[in-house]
Order: sequence, then C-alpha cells, then structure tokens
Amino acid sequence: MSAPPDERPPVTVLQAPVRLDYTVTAGHHLSTYLRALADRKIVGGRCPECHKVYLPARGACPTCGVPADAPVEVADQGTVTTFCVIRIPFDAAPFPPPYVAVAILLDGADMPIFHLVRGIEPDAARMGMRVRAVWVPDDQLGPTLASIRWFEATGEPDAPFEAIASHL
Ligand SMILES: [Zn+2]
Repeated sequence: MSAPPDERPPVTVLQAPVRLDYTVTAGHHLSTYLRALADRKIVGGRCPECHKVYLPARGACPTCGVPADAPVEVADQGTVTTFCVIRIPFDAAPFPPPYVAVAILLDGADMPIFHLVRGIEPDAARMGMRVRAVWVPDDQLGPTLASIRWFEATGEPDAPFEAIASHL
C-alpha cells in the first residue's frame, strides 16, 4: 500500500549541525614543519632538482618526483599573493567579520601558506602587500600554525606582480 500523495510544498532548507573530530598523524615532514613553529621558525624542504622550497617539506616534488626535503628555514614575512574578505558570519569564524584571509608567499618559499591578516581595513587588502607574522607569546608556542596569531602589514612598498606571478 503506497502513501497518499503529500500536498505540502517540498522541503528546500534543512538545518543540520555537523561536528567532526579527527586525528591527523603528521608524519615525518609535517612533524618537522610543526615542531619548528614551536621554536618561532618556519622550515620547509627544498627539491634538489628544481630547487623549489615547499612548505612543509614533501616526500616527493610533484614536478621532479624526488624527495623535496632538504631543510630550509624561510622568513616569517612575505607577500600576499591572493586574498579573500570574509563577510559572512559562521560558527567557526576566528573573528567577527569582516576579516581577511590570505595566501602568503613567505620570503624564501615557493609555495604560499594560508593565514589571516589583521590591522588593516578589509578594503585595503591587495595582492603584493608585504606582511609579517605576529607570533603568540613564548608560553603559548606549540607545534601548530596557531603559533602565528595572524599577519600584519609591514608598511613596505608592495611587491611587483612579477614577484608573485608564478606562485599563484
Ligand atoms: Zn622539483
């Protein structure tokens, strides 16, 4: 016996809070990167063939297929390659919007990392902007990218587009 046809309008919106707890086993290269952060250092790995510096180091350079794990310390300042202004609030937002999420090409690295920039108006965010890390106090340092609270503008002139064009 089939159910009678439902004359009500179809459900188009459903609120379903979801929470997912998970454990990541960092492995050798990611562990090196994370442990360095606890010492206020940012350490990547260089490919011996193409000389690109990856953050974190990789078991294999995707271009050359060889380990890209010769340790290289990069600067804790760099250049914004791309950015996004978050204007929509959500439960896990680190700050009330608006705030600025950025990809930063740290000086000495060839791959950007993702973080936040504070201390600027959202409309002032731009490609080429020079930024530096704002670290947490010593007693809060740990093996996590959260050891960097956020990045702030250095006040230096913007880097030319050519400096980041091949790192987008
Ligand atoms: Zn390579």
